[in-house]
Amino acid sequence: MKPLIIIVEDEKPIRHFIKVALETQNYGCIEAQSGREALSLTASHHPDIMVLDLGLPDIDGLDVIKQVRQWSGIAIVVVSARGREREKVEALDAGADDYLTKPFGVAELLARIRVSLRRVSTVSIQSGMESFVFQSGDLKVNFEKRRVELNGEDIHLTPTEYSLLTLLAKHQGKVLTHRFIMNKIWGPSDDTQSLRVCMANLRRKIEKDPAQPRYITTEVGVGYRMMEE
Ligand code: CA
Repeated sequence: MKPLIIIVEDEKPIRHFIKVALETQNYGCIEAQSGREALSLTASHHPDIMVLDLGLPDIDGLDVIKQVRQWSGIAIVVVSARGREREKVEALDAGADDYLTKPFGVAELLARIRVSLRRVSTVSIQSGMESFVFQSGDLKVNFEKRRVELNGEDIHLTPTEYSLLTLLAKHQGKVLTHRFIMNKIWGPSDDTQSLRVCMANLRRKIEKDPAQPRYITTEVGVGYRMMEE
């Protein structure tokens, strides 16, 4: 069965642009122009993914996420205006999976949808992830042996660097917020200094040019993302 995507956007041209792009890739689409319509269509049609504009005429997009999250594991990709990093972080912390910044292109839209669909379909096998070998370009992580290789050579990481790398690798393609990473590795704290230092050290070991990272990119004001190939 083809994946079903609900497009929640009050601006018709943008909604149309998204619909055409997704239907070309053989995804099924339903459309909602408001938050209320989004909630009722999600409950009645059980779509796999929601593409959600945060600026809606009736309910705040953030409240749509919070309400949907009470009863659905649907993947949510939010659409936000440029420069509104705080809004994106709030949406991600409320349970959104990823975001797109307006204006965005078809390639970016499809990449976010692909990663989110993978997340939805792999949730049930997450527990088997420990025996998984991650590979991206010349970088290879063997979770079972706790071994990291670059170009076939072992690289030595500290336990914290290893945790940071594997956390991002296990969520490849998806943005992880500073807060999410801090919580998983250092415990609850808003002081991201240790994260920044650890990331700089990790990049020195795995990136050819740490200033132009190929594997882990910085999402300014939001967090980090392990790139898909
Ligand atoms: Ca809007």
